[in-house]
Amino acid sequence: MAAIANIGFIGLGAMGSAMARNLLTTRYRVTGYDLSAAAQDRLAAAGGTAAASPRAAAEAADLVITMLPDAPDVDAALTGEGGILSLPSQGRLLMNCSTIDPAEARRFAAKAADAGWSYLDCAVGRTATQAAEGKCLFLLGGETGDKLAVGPVLKAMGDSVIDCGAVGQASAMKIVNNYLALVGCLATAEALMLARAASVKDVAALDVINGTSARNGNSMQNFPNKVLKGDVSPGFSLDLGRKDLAIAVAAMKREGLSSFLGEQALKAFDSAREEGHGGNDCTDLLNVLSKLSERRQGD
Ligand code: NAD
Repeated sequence: MAAIANIGFIGLGAMGSAMARNLLTTRYRVTGYDLSAAAQDRLAAAGGTAAASPRAAAEAADLVITMLPDAPDVDAALTGEGGILSLPSQGRLLMNCSTIDPAEARRFAAKAADAGWSYLDCAVGRTATQAAEGKCLFLLGGETGDKLAVGPVLKAMGDSVIDCGAVGQASAMKIVNNYLALVGCLATAEALMLARAASVKDVAALDVINGTSARNGNSMQNFPNKVLKGDVSPGFSLDLGRKDLAIAVAAMKREGLSSFLGEQALKAFDSAREEGHGGNDCTDLLNVLSKLSERRQGD
């Protein structure tokens, strides 16, 4: 495959917009598509070109990246009206970065192959803040030649690439990782609630937690940078977190594994959505727990 120069980018939200911006500031031409006009405008302001459909965004692309909420959205971009796979492949590559069920990744790879396209399973680790800094971590599954071809593109958006094996295995490992991170998010929120109940200040509680083996990415980065600063705008939304937990818990059930923590965490994420917090950052679980506790104490 010739060196990649033109990239089609479908899904320009918290992650996609940051990743596309880093491609533009490196040396790539990016033509993008998003259902949201504001997202399209952001791409144009960053020097990219907004297209009228996924197919139009992919028309001149050597590589098409999808960074969409969930598998049905990827399906729509691939096979819906104005879908990418209606284009002749001409040896081009499709790389899905959205977090989806691994079975869906394998299904999309098969659909892509039927249409003559190569498919890379490329999940993304870390948060929107790190994506903006060009410090994504990529998990790759697919053919070796395709993995090599996207190396420079990944370098423009991130600083770590981990080869997870075949298509489906990167998505599987992303779900494993988010299971741990999201259960950890709930555990961190509950721990801070318990410290508050003892009238210990958040800053002291975090100093203790982060000074011991209790620390985790939520206690070290996400909580201090988001909810504890009063910012619950979605770096990673509770709705998306719930999607990943549900995929993990379903996989654990399918495999006959116990999932005590996952099932409880799923209930907490469901409560957050019922309370109208689904669009907020995952760390907003702290405010949800606070609200639920006050209600319980008032009963
Ligand atoms: P987001 O909700 O901020 O952005 C999604 C974008 O996709 C939105 O702009 C939306 O308008 C657009 N969209 C939805 N359906 C579409 C369609 N059919 N066609 C075109 N555009 C469509 O989500 P995000 O946080 O950027 O996450 C994107 C994916 O990356 C998700 O699968 C998420 O789980 C995963 N992810 C997120 C993070 C994070 O920290 N936010 C980190 C790693 C991976």
